[in-house]
Amino acid sequence: MPELPEVETIVREIAPRLEGCRIAQVQLRKTDVLREVSKARLIKTLTGNTIEQVTRRAKHAVFRLSSGHRMIIQPRMTGSLLVYDGPLTRSELKYVVLICTLTDGRQFVYRDVRRLGTIWLLDEEGWIAYTGRIGPEPLEESFTPFVFADRLKGTRTAVKKAIMDQRRIAGVGNIYANEALFDARLDPSKPTNRVSLEEFARLHAAIVDVLRRALASSGTTLRDYRTGTGDRGRFQFELRVYGRGGEKCRNCGRKLVMTHRIDLRQTVFCGRCQK
Ligand SMILES: [Zn+2]
Repeated sequence: MPELPEVETIVREIAPRLEGCRIAQVQLRKTDVLREVSKARLIKTLTGNTIEQVTRRAKHAVFRLSSGHRMIIQPRMTGSLLVYDGPLTRSELKYVVLICTLTDGRQFVYRDVRRLGTIWLLDEEGWIAYTGRIGPEPLEESFTPFVFADRLKGTRTAVKKAIMDQRRIAGVGNIYANEALFDARLDPSKPTNRVSLEEFARLHAAIVDVLRRALASSGTTLRDYRTGTGDRGRFQFELRVYGRGGEKCRNCGRKLVMTHRIDLRQTVFCGRCQK
């Protein structure tokens, strides 16, 4: 968390408010989130730079700067990205990691309660290597069932783990992996090399469908996730299995099973519907 729909929601909301804007001043209040960049270099690079484009890659927000650099923020569990019209109040300043004051006085803020997120600063070469290590984007048209099956073949790992592996497919995390496997009627622990072509096609359709529906609901807020305007997502009301261990299967009424056996994370499934 947040996964693809949450980061895409944030990016869609903040992009029009940041693109074309110049950064006048930068404040970095915590440095333990930095990767591949020092505090001094991040501040020096951002100051006076213009944010040309804000996009998403996997579960990360990508800020392309006029200098050719990309700042990448992975909000992870407790991070949020917001744009404020003016200076922050004392309570708004709580947990703030990065403040970029724009030339028009507005402020772009990265806040992170537990600071599990990260900030990267990459040049063009570094970006190509970075994005090249991540699998295809599931909401792009080029992501066909064949591409999907090809990315997953040749592994005996549990299919749930395989679809959460960012090197194979971008953006799917624990919540949407659980939901997609239920929708596709597939046992999450099934070895990937034993998944049939027909099952791959079903799972492909289920992943694309659940991500689209979650995006339409501005994502899932279980605890800390907020959209780019500070609101809660609404997809938590539509979850069919995640967080529902012990409750009844929406399909057949049997008790849903919860286990941490597959990948140490919460897996919820129906022993009758998912084979
Ligand atoms: Zn069931």
